[in-house]
Amino acid sequence: MNTVNQSVAARWTDVRRRVDEACRRVGRDPASVEILPVSKTFGADVLRSAMALGLRRFGENKVQEIREKSMALADGGIRWVMIGHLQTNKARDVARLVAEVQSLDRLELAEVLHRRLQHEERFIDVLVQVKTSSEPSKYGLPPAQLLSFLEALREYSTLRVRGLMTLATQSDDPDEVRACFRRLRELRDQAVGEGHDLPRLSMGMSGDFPLAIAEGATEVRIGSALFGARPQLAANR
Ligand SMILES: *Cc1c(COP(=O)(O)O)cnc(C)c1O
Repeated sequence: MNTVNQSVAARWTDVRRRVDEACRRVGRDPASVEILPVSKTFGADVLRSAMALGLRRFGENKVQEIREKSMALADGGIRWVMIGHLQTNKARDVARLVAEVQSLDRLELAEVLHRRLQHEERFIDVLVQVKTSSEPSKYGLPPAQLLSFLEALREYSTLRVRGLMTLATQSDDPDEVRACFRRLRELRDQAVGEGHDLPRLSMGMSGDFPLAIAEGATEVRIGSALFGARPQLAANR
């Protein structure tokens, strides 16, 4: 193994161990929390070392990067997961290349994706991204609109709605961060009470995943803890 391979392998083992520990601390089964490796800004060589560990789902935040990497890794059997803000003019590539969108946050986008997916004769899994913090820069559906949004999504048969996603506030105060995760879980529980099937909660990143696991995350999205620091410019969330 070369050094890139070794460091990704060592970090993967370490992250998995820390996720398992976070589960045990709150009495959860470690098998109930998946890790989504977030490979944005990292090239095909880094992805190959993750693939050597058996990883096949990768989170990306730019359609352009998915397009480039899927060409470079054409035979890899990768399931690309879109976790970044999505413009409707990218829907065509998403419909062709992406297995799952976790950043669905408006009806206009659902409509365009559905039309493109019908054309491709494909289905994708989607999570609804909800805005649980008051930071103006964050995308996401306002919580008050969630129930009507979920109702409206029933129209779009190509979008299999599986759960909710959020980004917590960027704060040094763990209580504030945790409150965002709690909010998402409560919104999910409320929607389930209204008859929606939402088994998945995608929340928590390298810096805050134990708090998300304590609040019920079924999936944590891990970038830097697994692949190392990103160049500052590209690291915008
Ligand atoms: C970049 C990113 C992550 C991963 O962030 P890290 O702090 O590197 O783990 C998770 N979720 C989203 C939406 C991101 O854009």
